[in-house]
Amino acid sequence: MCSAASEPSLPPTSVRVGVVGGGQLGQMMALAAHRLGVKLTCLDPGGLASPTGKVCGAAVTGGLADGAAIRKLAAEVDVLTVEIEHIDTASLAAIEAEGKVAVHPSPRTLATIQDKLLQKRHLSTVDGVSLGDSWHTWGYPLMLKARTLAYDGRGNAVVRSAAEAESAFSSLSRGGAVPLYAERWAEFVSELAVMVARARDGTVVTYPLTVTEQRDSMCHTVVAPAPVAASVSEQALAALAVARKAISSLWGAGIFGVELFHMKDGSVLLNEIAPRPHNSGHYTMDACVTEQHEMHLRCVAGLPLGDTSMKVAAAAMYNVIGSADGKLSTTLAAVDAALAMPCAALHWYGKAPPKPRRKMAHVNLVGGSRHEVAIALRKLEAIADAANG
Ligand code: ATP
Ligand code: MG
Ligand code: MG
Repeated sequence: MCSAASEPSLPPTSVRVGVVGGGQLGQMMALAAHRLGVKLTCLDPGGLASPTGKVCGAAVTGGLADGAAIRKLAAEVDVLTVEIEHIDTASLAAIEAEGKVAVHPSPRTLATIQDKLLQKRHLSTVDGVSLGDSWHTWGYPLMLKARTLAYDGRGNAVVRSAAEAESAFSSLSRGGAVPLYAERWAEFVSELAVMVARARDGTVVTYPLTVTEQRDSMCHTVVAPAPVAASVSEQALAALAVARKAISSLWGAGIFGVELFHMKDGSVLLNEIAPRPHNSGHYTMDACVTEQHEMHLRCVAGLPLGDTSMKVAAAAMYNVIGSADGKLSTTLAAVDAALAMPCAALHWYGKAPPKPRRKMAHVNLVGGSRHEVAIALRKLEAIADAANG
C-alpha cells in the first residue's frame, strides 16, 4: 500500500471506497470522489502510476485477478467496487460473504456480466427484455464472440460463411483457450445506450437515452438525448423500460451502461450491460446535474442518489483514440480542435503515449440545441478524420 504523504482530515460523509482497476473510469471516479469527500484507493498493476492512481494518490499494486491483492485493497476500505468487469469475482464474493466490507455491485452481478453467455442466459429470463432470436434457426452473417475478457470489440468476429467460421473460431478462441459463443447478426438501424443507476435499496433511476456510433466496434460518438422525441416516442420509452428491467434483475448497487440495438422493425434488443461507468455516459460529465462517476460512488457508498437530468439542451461525446499511425500528433488533432471550440470540454486521461485503438481522452460538446451540437460534432470529426487520413 502506498499513500500520499499527508492525509487531509475527512468530512463526516466520508466513506473509503476501493476500486478494482486503475484505468480512465477509475480516474474519473477519483475526480468525483475528491469532490464528494470520499477517499478512493485503486488496485492496478501500475499502482500510483496508473491513470487512477495518479489522481487518487492511493493504490495497491497488483493484478485484477490476484485474490491476495484484492484482499489487501479490501483491508483499506469500507466498500469495494470495480471500474472494469474482468476481475476475480470469487475473491470479491468471499469478501462480501465475510460481511466486513460491502461489495457493489454484487460479485454475483459481476460474475454474471463478465461471461457474456451467462449474461445473455440471465437476461433471457427477465420479462420484457428481448435479446432477439435465440440460439437456433439462423444462418449467416453471425457474430462470434468471446465469452470472457471482451472489450472494444476485441473478442468479436463477423462470420459470413461456413468457410469463415473456422478461421474466426481459431483466431478468437486462441486454439480453444477462450470459450466462444455465437449471436445472430442484428440488423439494427442505430445503437442506443442508457446509463442506469441502482441504489443500495434497489431504487433504479435512468439517465436520458443516447444514440451511439461505433467505428471498428469501438465507441466513436454519443449523442444525448437520442434524437427522438423522448416524451412521445414509444421506442424511446420501450428502450428505457428494457434497461430498467434488466438492471432491476441484477444484484447490488452501482451505475450500469446498457447497450441496445434499435432494430429495423422498431423493436429494441439488448446487446450487453456494463456494471460500471460507461463510455456512453461520459457526456454526463458536462451535461447532467450528477455525472455518472459521482452517481456510481453515491450508489456504492450508500449516499443519496443524484439527479440524472440534463442541464443543457443537447450534448455529444467524441472519443479521442490512438491513431493507426501511432503518432501523437495525429491523435492530438482532435484535442487541438476541441481546445479551440467554445462548446467543448476536453477530458484527457494522461495515459502512456498513444497506441492504435487506445482510448486517450474524450471531448464533450454541449449546446443550446441539437443542431448546434451536431454542427460542432461534425466539425470535430472532420478535423480528426482529415488528420487520420
Ligand atoms: P464494449 O464492451 O467495449 O462495448 P465489446 O467488446 O463487449 O465492446 P460488443 O458490445 O459485443 O463488444 O460489440 C461491439 C459492437 O459490435 C457493437 O456495439 C455493435 O456495433 C457490434 N455488434 C455486436 N454484436 C452484434 C450483433 N449480434 N450483430 C451486429 N452487430 C453487433
Ligand atoms: Mg462489452
Ligand atoms: Mg459493447
